[in-house]
Amino acid sequence: MAKEKSKKENKEGKYEKLFWKKESAWLSLNENSLKETMALSEELKQFMSESKTEYEIASSVISVLKKNEFKPLNEIKNLSPGTKFFIEKFGKLVCAGVIGKQSISSGFNAIAAHSDSPRLDLKPRPLIEEANSSLALLKTHYYGGIKKYQWMSTQLAMHAVIVKANGDKLNFVIGEKENEPVFSIADLLPHVLKNKDDKPNQPKIEAEDLHILVGSIPVNDKKVKDKIKANVLNYLHEKLGITEKDFVSSAIEFVPAFKATDLGFDKSLISGYGFDDKVHCFLGLKALVSLKIPEKTSLLFIFDKEEIGSEGITSAQSSFLESCLLKLFDFHLNENSFKKITNCLENSNILSADVTSGLTPAFEGAFDASNTALIGFGISIEKTTGSGGKYEGSEVNPEFFNKIIQVLDKEKIIWQSGEIGKIDYGGGGTLAKFFAKRGCNVIDIGIPVIGMHSPLEVASKVDCYFALKSFKALLEKM
Ligand code: MN
Ligand code: MN
Repeated sequence: MAKEKSKKENKEGKYEKLFWKKESAWLSLNENSLKETMALSEELKQFMSESKTEYEIASSVISVLKKNEFKPLNEIKNLSPGTKFFIEKFGKLVCAGVIGKQSISSGFNAIAAHSDSPRLDLKPRPLIEEANSSLALLKTHYYGGIKKYQWMSTQLAMHAVIVKANGDKLNFVIGEKENEPVFSIADLLPHVLKNKDDKPNQPKIEAEDLHILVGSIPVNDKKVKDKIKANVLNYLHEKLGITEKDFVSSAIEFVPAFKATDLGFDKSLISGYGFDDKVHCFLGLKALVSLKIPEKTSLLFIFDKEEIGSEGITSAQSSFLESCLLKLFDFHLNENSFKKITNCLENSNILSADVTSGLTPAFEGAFDASNTALIGFGISIEKTTGSGGKYEGSEVNPEFFNKIIQVLDKEKIIWQSGEIGKIDYGGGGTLAKFFAKRGCNVIDIGIPVIGMHSPLEVASKVDCYFALKSFKALLEKM
């Protein structure tokens, strides 16, 4: 009898509804939302192709803010509900916001993302001429976590911010436009260095081997020792008015030269450089500019230096957050006490918007498949970050997690949850812990990416669509 009953109940779905099902987010789209997904991805590709460095992201973000009637805070006379403002620092940090109906002292809702991505920076005295190969090279110091071999045999573009001897600042980009030259790091051909078994014997690529090829024509002057180096320096002097010494007071970044493009027969994916974390700078910005007058003040923060542990003056650990709050409090509330700021932070909710790892074919062994986000299965919300027993991570309170998913479920937003890699083998940190330290409710949320930190990361358009929907909903309702 009992058996019969359970059979009957199972038929009616008693057990099915107990399971947390996984389903491709594509299947939840209708004609309209599919169109929106594809339109959003066109904008995203353009943003990613045009803004590759933290400087360029800040400037793109500010230009979008200005188009949407956001003004620099110091040009605003009165902060009232609906006022749109932004604060920028060092050409990299951005805080933008829409003042809510409630006073800022009762807390804010925010999205925080980082604009820096792994790349190759130059050493302070980078330019060398290698006598044996007769080539001019630039020595690099890699930035962030990279697999070194991935940055060889690929086309690189140079993005430079240079402060010259006289204090003049200039921006120079080469390698992005169709008729411009690119740069690259040559790898070894497979024909040489074979071992006894005739297997290619690829030596390990050391950081000190990552030298970028930049020239090969010597100057015709017998008195000059490094003739090819002289020719490169001469080009830079004629073009930019700089000398070798100016490398040291510059931020020169080499990044993949290619544009973000559709990937796959079905064009469901995008491949491009720096999804981590340009994608959330872009989607956070889109969500912010779409707001009318939110209940709580809504903010977007863009930080730098996440990829090196959020250290330094432009990082999430810097005083930028507090300094922005002080400016807002000072403005007209006249209540800039430490107590008020602390109280504001403790009543604030922050989405630490960053990419997570998607399950990667051929490397499934690196993951716990059932606890890894899948590409195309929606936005991923992480319970915890860190590694090896949750060390150095941030773990969200269950109450706040519940509040988030209540909002998402109500809006029919497709979401999933996962961790980065197998325990004791994988893991990673985000900005979250630096906001947690300040007393804010914070949760890690973001799209899954495959090939993270490689020159060519891959992500799904539908995940970006649901990320934007979640950001919009959560800025209003979390
Ligand atoms: Mn990241
Ligand atoms: Mn990263």
